[in-house]
Amino acid sequence: MAQTGGAPAPERIGGADFDGLGGEEKVPIIVTKAPTKRSTAKLVQHVSNFALTRAEMLRVTPAHRVLWGVGSAVRGGAYSQDAYIYSTPATHISQFWTHSWHGGPYCKIAVLHLVCSGLAALACGTLAVAVSLVPLDRMGASTLWSLLVGLLVSSLALLTWRPSVKVFFDKLCIAQHDAKLQVEGVVNVGACVKNSESMLLCWDSTFFGRLWCVVEVAAFLKTHHDPAALRIRPTTWGPTSIVLFLTFWAWTGMSQITGSVIIGDIEWEPFSLALVFSAANAVNHMLSMSFIAHFWRSHLRDLDMACTQLSDFSFKRDVSCHCCAIGHIHPVTGRPMACDHETIRECLCIWFGSVEEFDVIMRDRMAGVFQKSFCRHPLPYHWIVGATTPTLWVAMCNVFQSMAVGTFPFLLLFANLAYWLAVFPVLLHLELKLAHLLRRRRRFFWQEIVVNIALAFAGSIGFAIYLIIEAAGIVMLGDPMKGAAATSLLWAVVAVYVWCT
Ligand SMILES: [Zn+2]
Repeated sequence: MAQTGGAPAPERIGGADFDGLGGEEKVPIIVTKAPTKRSTAKLVQHVSNFALTRAEMLRVTPAHRVLWGVGSAVRGGAYSQDAYIYSTPATHISQFWTHSWHGGPYCKIAVLHLVCSGLAALACGTLAVAVSLVPLDRMGASTLWSLLVGLLVSSLALLTWRPSVKVFFDKLCIAQHDAKLQVEGVVNVGACVKNSESMLLCWDSTFFGRLWCVVEVAAFLKTHHDPAALRIRPTTWGPTSIVLFLTFWAWTGMSQITGSVIIGDIEWEPFSLALVFSAANAVNHMLSMSFIAHFWRSHLRDLDMACTQLSDFSFKRDVSCHCCAIGHIHPVTGRPMACDHETIRECLCIWFGSVEEFDVIMRDRMAGVFQKSFCRHPLPYHWIVGATTPTLWVAMCNVFQSMAVGTFPFLLLFANLAYWLAVFPVLLHLELKLAHLLRRRRRFFWQEIVVNIALAFAGSIGFAIYLIIEAAGIVMLGDPMKGAAATSLLWAVVAVYVWCT
C-alpha cells in the first residue's frame, strides 16, 4: 500500500503553504529555498498520484483524543499545542475528518461529540432513567425526578465517552511544530484520503471556500465511488440538536407537571381539556421554542448558502488560499513562495481532466447531496428522534406508574411511543418548513425576536391542533386511551408519509 521509493525529500518539495491546516493562526514556515519549477512539478506529481513519502506518514488518532477536554484540540486552533505525539502510524484509516479551521470551533466540537458519542449518551441516559424509577418510587418521590437523572447521566456520558474509532485529524496527524515534517504531512494528505474507508465532512459556510478543504474532498471523490462513504454533517446540527434536547427535556417535564395540576381531580370534557392544556402548553412552548427557532433559521440560511454556492461552484473564483492573500512572499524570509492554488489546479487537471470538469463534478455530486439531503430534511429523522428522547423518558415514567398499580398499559405505551417517534418529528418538521419560509435575517434585533416568537407560536398552534384531533378521537371512541392510541396511529401514518416518500 505505502510506497517510499522515488518520493522527493520533504525539504525539496517547495514552499507549500498550509492554508487548510493553519487558517489565520499560521506559524510561519522557514523556507530555505525559493520554489523552482522542478520542485513544484515534483509536488504536483506526488500529491496527484496519492503516494506516501514513507509508510509512517499514514497516521491515525483515536477519536476520543480529538474530543478530549471538550475538544481542546479543536478549541485551541491549529497550532495551540504540539499534538503530533497523540497520533501513531497505521496501515489504514477508518475515517478521515475534514473541516475548516475558519469555522466556529464550538459548533464543530458539538457535532463531533454527537456523531461519536450521541447514541451512547442517549442509551446511558435512558438506562439511568429505567434504573432510577424503582428507588424513586420506594422513596415516595415523584418519578419525574428520573428525568433529572437521565439528563445528568446522558450529559456526563456525552462528555466522557471514549470512542476508539481511528481517525485522521489534521492537527494530530500532521506535525505542527516541525517545518520539514509538516511539509511532508501536507503532501501526504491525498494518500491519507485514499487509504481512508470513509470521510466525515464537518461542513460550515467557510468550508468550500478553503483550498485544502476542497483538495481533500476532491481527492476523496477521485478515489472513492461509494456515495455512502462521504458523510456530510453540517456543524450547526451540533448546537441545534443539543438545544432541542435541552428544550424538550424542560418542556416535557413542565408539561407533565402542568398537566397534572390542570387535570387534578376534575372530570374534564375532552375538548375543554384539550383547549386548556393547549393554552398552558403554549406558554411552555413559546418560552423554549423561540431559541430553537433562532437556531433553525440560522441553520437553514447556511444550507441555502451552500446550495447556492455549490450549484455555481468555480474552483478558480470561489476557493482562496493564504499564499495568494500575502502575494506569494514569505512573511519571515521575504523569499518567493510557490502558489498552492496553482499547484492544486494542476493536481485537479491530472485527477479530473480539467478544473472545469472538477467544477462540474462538484456541482453535480456535492450540490446534489445538499439539495436532496439537507434542503428537504434540514435535520434528519434519527437526529430529531435522538434530540426528543426526553419524550421517551416521560413515557417510561407514565408506564411505570401504571404498572405500579398492577396493569400493563399497552395503549398508553403505544400512544407515548407515537408521541416520540411520530407526533413530535412531524410537528418539528412542519416548524422547520415554516422556519424555512421565514429564514431571512432581519435588519433589527427586535425583528429577529418577533420572527422567532411567531415561529414558536405557530408551533404551539400545531400542538393545539394535535390535541384537538386527539380529543375528537376520544369522543368518537368513548375511551381516552383508545382515542389517544387511534390518533397516534394516524400520526404514525403521516410520519411515514413525510419521512419515507
Ligand atoms: Zn497562491
